[in-house]
Amino acid sequence: MAKVDVVCPQCNETHGVRCNGHSASGAQRYICKLCSKTFQLNFSYSGAKPDTHQTIVNMAMNGSGCRDTARVLGISLNTVLRHLKKFPPKQVADNIDAEAEVVICCEADEQGSYVRCKANPRWLFYADDRIRKRALAHVFGPRNASTLQRLLTLLSKFNIAFYMTDAWPVYTVLLSATSHVVSKKYTQRIERYNLNLRTHIKRLTRRTLCFSKSEEMHDKITGWYFTIHHYQ
Ligand SMILES: [Zn+2]
Repeated sequence: MAKVDVVCPQCNETHGVRCNGHSASGAQRYICKLCSKTFQLNFSYSGAKPDTHQTIVNMAMNGSGCRDTARVLGISLNTVLRHLKKFPPKQVADNIDAEAEVVICCEADEQGSYVRCKANPRWLFYADDRIRKRALAHVFGPRNASTLQRLLTLLSKFNIAFYMTDAWPVYTVLLSATSHVVSKKYTQRIERYNLNLRTHIKRLTRRTLCFSKSEEMHDKITGWYFTIHHYQ
């Protein structure tokens, strides 16, 4: 006769766990008397398993589209989208005091993509701290001065010594009051990072059938990539 202890997922204890009826689908439910948490171990729908959320996020950040994830995990597309839509928009500027953070070299660049069709482009503008090797802020929008201005507003919280960009004329106009270096030599790091984004996020990959179907998903998934790699 074999006996397996049921471990509470909240406090990792076994001696306080008792049976606590059944779920609507008939699975055994348990309650932990120590932390009062109820839980179940078997799920008839694998989308309801506790580790599914992290798997969906990991796949979205590593070259899988939403439909890929649904096929691999055997769950519905709507479940995948519901998990990914929970991403809150974040910027590193949210948690710093104005002017407290000094950035010596700030590289800025823009990267093109589209939503639904190529006639509907969605540009990602972002800025990178060259020395600390981390992104500072990002915005999405058309490739024009107002989108760049929104990025510069986010960057205004930092104390930036030098801006480094390519020779797109809008940079020259909007950064005329700052120390601005125009050179492809000093944007190599951010240009290389564009390649990371295109490799790690399925919807940014070129020469494939994959593209974003909505602005919301495009912004949230790309934005969350910045959050987990730079803003936390
Ligand atoms: Zn417990």
